[in-house]
Amino acid sequence: MSLPASDLTKAPDQRTAMDLGPVLPETAEVRDGHLFVGGVDLVELAREQGTALYVFDEAHLRHRMEAYVDAFHGLYPESDVIYASKAFLNKAVVRIAHEKGLCLDVSGGGELACALSVGYPADRVFMHGNNKTPRELEEAISAGVGRIVVDSFDELARVSRIAGEHGIVQEIYLRITPGVEADTHEYIKTGCEDSKFGFTMKDDLALRAVGRALETPHVHLAGLHCHIGSQIFKLDPFAEAAAVMVGFMDRIRSEYGATLSELDLGGGLGIAYLADDEPASIQEFAQMTCGAVKDACEARDFPLPRLLVEPGRSLVANAGMTLYTVGTIKELPGIRTFVAIDGGMSDNIRTALYHADYEPVIANKADQPRTQIVTLCGKHCESGDAVVLDMPLQEAEVDDIVCVFGTGAYNQTMASNYNGQPRPGVVFVCDGQAKLVTRRETYEDLYARDL
Ligand SMILES: *Cc1c(COP(=O)(O)O)cnc(C)c1O
Repeated sequence: MSLPASDLTKAPDQRTAMDLGPVLPETAEVRDGHLFVGGVDLVELAREQGTALYVFDEAHLRHRMEAYVDAFHGLYPESDVIYASKAFLNKAVVRIAHEKGLCLDVSGGGELACALSVGYPADRVFMHGNNKTPRELEEAISAGVGRIVVDSFDELARVSRIAGEHGIVQEIYLRITPGVEADTHEYIKTGCEDSKFGFTMKDDLALRAVGRALETPHVHLAGLHCHIGSQIFKLDPFAEAAAVMVGFMDRIRSEYGATLSELDLGGGLGIAYLADDEPASIQEFAQMTCGAVKDACEARDFPLPRLLVEPGRSLVANAGMTLYTVGTIKELPGIRTFVAIDGGMSDNIRTALYHADYEPVIANKADQPRTQIVTLCGKHCESGDAVVLDMPLQEAEVDDIVCVFGTGAYNQTMASNYNGQPRPGVVFVCDGQAKLVTRRETYEDLYARDL
């Protein structure tokens, strides 16, 4: 796939790094033209650690986690915030999530292994996935994960069998497709009818699944789950989904006499990728979802369930950024200017996948206006390999350090070794200190599995 044509009429902007508002990590500042985050000079950091490099503003990350927990506990005491670890995962972020009182979503055995390796309590882990393998289920059940979110009839039988072999009753949810459309990209919509995830409510499939779960041995249906999509800006679909789900719980009560006591509304709150984006705040999201659940329960005289939400992106995306070094610059008159960086689709697949937007700056020229429009392309053998399409940037020169904001979610966890590229290290910056929390891959790592 090639790149979308550059818009040659697009005007550069006069904004400097500090004018980029909502995409900036909270401790961003500029000193002597250099971008600092967490009190650390990102230009120096890039030169010390090498690039490409993932950097996280640790204070920002911690504050987002606190804001979520405080907002939900404040409005709805019987609630839990679950970090959807597929957005960004290493041992450091799991430790912080645990410290901040969040539960953890894992979508397979590999993510579970990371959680267990740092002593994260298994009973606070929720396991997802539309096709967890028997081995992954075995790992989850023997570790004692709190809830398995069952996605199909086949899996229901599988969980029952494995739990039976262990002589336990496994707590489960069923994943339901509430038929709610969210205003987001096609590929990250999950709540509509034609979805590989969950049980659709159409033709009472979901109702039959609940009936089956209620009579299946070795499992206890603790509640229901839904997840309507990702990077959602308008909050109404969350309220709609909440109302649909409570309505469904009410129907289960009348059909089967079972009053389910937990409701997990998934993740999906959007974040700012562009300076002009205006996503809803965590507080607004909490008000919308808690309010909708309370209203629906009151209207149906249904007891308030324990409420869960599973943010991924909105916890980590704006805390993270990626540093690169400029290697080559090509001006193609009447076409576009390519600024090539020492990474690309191997560390950020989102742009090649669905033309994602990002705001870039040159970290060593952070106080200058962004006077050219460029495409930041990668070093990979694909013409669709770009990190930033058609955005303003300061006048670029070879060896400049580029910082791309908002890369904290779905970059590190989707990274690959395409073209033999070692995956970047991860550094947490805080109070003037840079902590390397994941080292860069070595060439040796790349081929360590080969026999
Ligand atoms: C991906 C995912 C999330 C997190 O979504 P975000 O948009 O990153 O908040 C939560 N729950 C489930 C089941 C998911 O698949």
